[in-house]
Amino acid sequence: MTDSCRDIFVTKPSLPPLEEFIPSLEAIWESAVLTNGGLFHQRFEAALAEYLGAKHLCLFVNGTIALLTALQALRVTGEVLTTPFSFVATSHALWWNGVKPVFVDIDASMNMNPERLEAAITPRTTAILAVHCYGRPCDVRAIQDIAGRHNLKVIYDAAHAFGVRDEGGSVLRHGDLSVLSFHATKVFNTFEGGAIICPDEKTKQHIDDLKNFGHADEVTVVAPGINGKMNEFCAALGLLQLKHIDAALARRAGVDARYRERLKTARGIQCLERAAGKSGNYAYFPILVREDYPIARDELYWRLKKEGIHPRRYFYPLISEFPMYRGLDSARSDNLPVAARLSRQVLCLPIYPDLEMSVVDAVCDLIAAP
Ligand SMILES: *Cc1c(COP(=O)(O)O)cnc(C)c1O
Repeated sequence: MTDSCRDIFVTKPSLPPLEEFIPSLEAIWESAVLTNGGLFHQRFEAALAEYLGAKHLCLFVNGTIALLTALQALRVTGEVLTTPFSFVATSHALWWNGVKPVFVDIDASMNMNPERLEAAITPRTTAILAVHCYGRPCDVRAIQDIAGRHNLKVIYDAAHAFGVRDEGGSVLRHGDLSVLSFHATKVFNTFEGGAIICPDEKTKQHIDDLKNFGHADEVTVVAPGINGKMNEFCAALGLLQLKHIDAALARRAGVDARYRERLKTARGIQCLERAAGKSGNYAYFPILVREDYPIARDELYWRLKKEGIHPRRYFYPLISEFPMYRGLDSARSDNLPVAARLSRQVLCLPIYPDLEMSVVDAVCDLIAAP
């Protein structure tokens, strides 16, 4: 970098001013309630549900345990249709439930191609686990239509989709369950954390039991549950983060707009279009480095790194290319041609609320003249 000696990473976790957090810490120390659904957990759960426009929401210790629990709650077994173009946790959650992932190719939206779903259904298929990749909503109507006709459950890994809305409201209302992650690298973080959005009180109660070892009360265990509870520290932080999230999203929108403007004329570089009629969260800024770009994607990746810019190749390799999955029939590259091509073209550029525009410009200059 010319104007800065700092390394620039793809994201930088947002934190509230420390002095805002001190009173919460004092309250936690004072009460000595550290976890198990304390006051901050209750307040954050209610505030978050309201912010997201979700009827019912269960907080979790992280997104992966939330995914595992969502699959348990719906008693998903057998085979599940899913995308290879995601973070490995999506398929790992199936594996840890003893469920076989069946990979379905994506389309130019970077999400599962609904037209490829039906051909992948077998008598063992019980559910669809789709991802709103980069916070860009899936074709939820097509997915629901197919699920309805084949009696399949639908779970959305919405780890990227915090605050994303479509014409009818929050995208998190779609499917049987949606799962969020509040990991440090996500748009909204509680250091580590996650949530399941569910449609009714009964499902919430079941999930709340599951995340607390299956304990319904002191002497009653109703299910073989897990420890998925969010602690008071993370809940208190989340409550504060909510106050700042709208400002953070607005700043992300500014970075997104600057990239689009500056990369408009870069030959061989394609910015993914914003999804029409939807309000995004600018969680990622993926570009495609096409064949008509002067150098290969990986060469650009290494050149940027040499300048102290650290983009990420989300999602390369594909999940289906990792050793524990590549032997599956659906992992064959001729079953996943679009995912295979896009994972070799994609590059996610740095985007976070306090990323300076001068850095965005410098990144764009490096990309424009590699
Ligand atoms: C981050 C992420 C997860 C995992 O969430 P954690 O909170 O880190 O456990 C799952 N799926 C996707 C698509 C993610 O990006």
